[in-house]
Amino acid sequence: MVRGRGSELFLDDGRTLIDGISSWWVNLHGHAHPAIADAIAEQARTLEHVIFAGYTHEPAQQLAERLTALLPERLNTVFFSDNGSTAVEVALKMAWQYWRNQGNPARNRILAFDNAYHGDTFGAMAAGARSIFFEAFEPLMFDVARLPYPATWIGDSEVDAKEAHALAALRTQLEEAPDAYAAMILEPLVQGAGGMMMARASFVRSVCELAREFGVLVIFDEVMTGFGRTGELFAFRKVGFEPDFLCLSKGLTGGFLPMSLTITGERVQDAFRSADLTHTFWHGHSYTANPLGCAAAVASLTLTEQILPELASIEERHLAELATGGFKAEKFRVCGTILAMDVPAGTATGYTNPVGPALRAAFLEDGILLRPLGSTVYVMAPYCTTSAQYHTIYASLRRRLAAL
Ligand code: PLP
Repeated sequence: MVRGRGSELFLDDGRTLIDGISSWWVNLHGHAHPAIADAIAEQARTLEHVIFAGYTHEPAQQLAERLTALLPERLNTVFFSDNGSTAVEVALKMAWQYWRNQGNPARNRILAFDNAYHGDTFGAMAAGARSIFFEAFEPLMFDVARLPYPATWIGDSEVDAKEAHALAALRTQLEEAPDAYAAMILEPLVQGAGGMMMARASFVRSVCELAREFGVLVIFDEVMTGFGRTGELFAFRKVGFEPDFLCLSKGLTGGFLPMSLTITGERVQDAFRSADLTHTFWHGHSYTANPLGCAAAVASLTLTEQILPELASIEERHLAELATGGFKAEKFRVCGTILAMDVPAGTATGYTNPVGPALRAAFLEDGILLRPLGSTVYVMAPYCTTSAQYHTIYASLRRRLAAL
């Protein structure tokens, strides 16, 4: 790769690719966006980095203020780290220590969903579904209580039954051990790496309300769904439930720099205010709240707020294209800017399905960067992707699926 501009990437051999997956879901407004690049350059000439222990700086404050102004009162405290996995790690650690600091260490179990993916560090791996990614580390991971995930798609006739089953499973877990669970973690509306598996907002709201009824802290991992991906600024707004923790990364800086946030509120923070140093949240990274990342995030947020009203048209575009038909696939699903479908893959399912690499190579031949997740093919392009570029992507999808 040599250069990027808008949704296009330019290779050293002269080829051009349309980035149909926003470079692993991080890029929102196009590559090398001048407004974000300028903000980073200006910040680099002012203060590139400084220790964040005991100090603060304008870009971090600005970012925290801008974001919390868009969030409910319950989410007004911002903790900075470096990537999606650490945002999750911090939420899990804080939730766990919250109960310990409250003198309730028996509330120490985590509830998580089948097929989830929360990152590659140990806590995030433990909360994620067991898969080929994590197999080698199985003995080192803590046990979590696993819940069924009612993945659904357009025209899914069994969704009511799947949701009822999942809700009943959660109720059983909670009733059997009402004081055992510290937190429940989920990717609201769309499970990303698990294959763009979507759930209905009403279901997500119901499980969260049930968990809260039993005092369980709710962690929304919006590392992927944040910043407009589901059509709303954050998925929790679509769900209609305010979580106790919100994990953000990926699109946070518009795809320019690694940075993440774990956002919580007074209730959690109060549990850490103590003269007793064992109550302190001892967690910090060298590059915590890097000013360049903060400046990029502030600039990206401004662009996101401008584009937000137009994101509904991307969902309409995906739906209209599906209505036109011609995709040799099944389980079609759309959530905001995300379109996904499954290749009927015979017995081989999951990430290791060879259909994924075969399609990836075929899309490359068509000048498109798409990276199927096993037998799931999906599109999640930058918000600036043009009609003509979408047309190219859909045409390639139709042709390559038909040729399989
Ligand atoms: N959580 C979710 C929902 C993700 O999709 C990802 C990455 O794909 C992560 C966490 C981990 O983020 P990172 O790769 O930045 O560590």
